[in-house]
Amino acid sequence: MFDLLIRHTDLLQTLPTVEAVRDQDIAIRGTQIAALAPGGTLPVEQAAHVIEATGMLAAPGLINAHAHVPMVLFRGLAEDVSIENWFNDYIWHVEANLTAEDVYWGALFGIAEMIECGVTTVADHYFFMDSVAQAITESGMRALLVTAMFGTSENAETELNASTVFIERWHGAAEGRIRAWLGPHSTYICPEPFLRKVAERAKAIGTGVHIHVSETREQVTASLAKTGRTPVEMLKTTGLLDSPTIAAHVAHPSHFDLQILSDHDVGTVHCPKTFLKLAAGMSPILTLRDQGISVAFGTDGAASNNTLDILEAARLAALVQKHERRTPTVATINETLQMAFIGGAEVLRLGDNFGTLAVGKTADLILIRQDGVAMQPLINIPANLLYSASARDVDTTIVNGRVLMQGRKLLTLDKAAIIREVQTRLPRLLQRLPEKRIQTYRP
Ligand SMILES: [Zn+2]
Repeated sequence: MFDLLIRHTDLLQTLPTVEAVRDQDIAIRGTQIAALAPGGTLPVEQAAHVIEATGMLAAPGLINAHAHVPMVLFRGLAEDVSIENWFNDYIWHVEANLTAEDVYWGALFGIAEMIECGVTTVADHYFFMDSVAQAITESGMRALLVTAMFGTSENAETELNASTVFIERWHGAAEGRIRAWLGPHSTYICPEPFLRKVAERAKAIGTGVHIHVSETREQVTASLAKTGRTPVEMLKTTGLLDSPTIAAHVAHPSHFDLQILSDHDVGTVHCPKTFLKLAAGMSPILTLRDQGISVAFGTDGAASNNTLDILEAARLAALVQKHERRTPTVATINETLQMAFIGGAEVLRLGDNFGTLAVGKTADLILIRQDGVAMQPLINIPANLLYSASARDVDTTIVNGRVLMQGRKLLTLDKAAIIREVQTRLPRLLQRLPEKRIQTYRP
């Protein structure tokens, strides 16, 4: 018996290269893909549920490798401003208003958007993470969660202990869909002694670290002036790189930084839309990849990125590389989609059962409509996916074998109720009081 049979779908293979196989059946049993076969050959009578997917494309679920999901609450608040203004005049004021309940509703709001965009896994970095974990549990999505830590107050030890308790409480929860690591904010916010403590704790409890690294050139210059080391060198000398690390951004690595990254267990995340908007510079993703360093795509928060759409991130990533190198043959469709699918699974340390659709792999997958005019004709399906598809073409989202959206209807979340609830919270959340700010940005 199969729990779910998807019939007559085109299927996107991601290994060894990205290509579409026409007209396939996909059978799911429990949380795994149990069978793949030519369309119409798997027995319908042995399936508890059937999705007729003629004309659709099945792809692995998309992975958002760096986000601040509840920031969807602040989408559109701080536009056309510098990164300093963005932090100091807007975001760090309104984040001082957040309660655990606000973050819960913000997380549900962002998760709804991601399920609609075909994102099945997110690495989230925020505050009140019990609320985010609760929202992930209820939604059916998969996540790697960290509590953002500043380590700047005299309560730094308490902050680190609370993060450790969060990991104990949630790592492996929700049928294993939730994992939890440590999340020091960055080398420019966190004091060096605190980063050393985080590194020791990560090693002691055998967990990983998710941190912002070298977002702007000013951050690198300031780090060199203050410590004599680049942010990447700081990661190494504080011991953080002795544990698996997600380094978000890495926009300005030196030659020596690249060597350090490739010598350690580090995955990097590229968020091109936020970086284009903030004119912060771009991660040299092709150079990183050539050094054997994993690259995935992320959206950062929607207060800078405006969407949580990984297809959009992948498209921008490819276009920016072609533009920056003045060479149209780089960042090919194959390379870019492999970063999205395989790179995402690598950077989140999800293991071999993710990022690819094959028998025995975890059933995290999406179905994308191809009957829209912009998706036709089907001369090059991977090209259509990268350069023509809209997130709104995602029809069905499946995580761990469970259907979270079908026919663009969310099955685990009440979208109207979430939007209503967020609306009632916004007037209070958007107040910016001069005396209330959770942190100060100095590169
Ligand atoms: Zn970020």
